[in-house]
Amino acid sequence: MYAGLSNYPAGVTGREYEIAGPDSEWTETKEVACGNDECENFEVEVEVECEVESFRGTWRAFWTCPTCNTDHEKEGEMADDYGPDPDEAWDSRFDD
Ligand SMILES: [Zn+2]
Repeated sequence: MYAGLSNYPAGVTGREYEIAGPDSEWTETKEVACGNDECENFEVEVEVECEVESFRGTWRAFWTCPTCNTDHEKEGEMADDYGPDPDEAWDSRFDD
């Protein structure tokens, strides 16, 4: 018989975010608006330092509003915002 290639249960590849973590992490300055109604700068775009991470073609940025100190999360597609990633294009052949 075929010996298991991993110790993960069926359906789990080990590439899940919870197991593998983000594909990459970096810090970046982004222009963001708070959007919190109770914040006096809620519609003002401000430049803040974001902790950004990517996972399988999606990026997520974590930042804190300098005015009201609320934590925010923003996400988007790597291909839309950072251009096509050859590694990701290769990996995506294995997506459902
Ligand atoms: Zn705010």
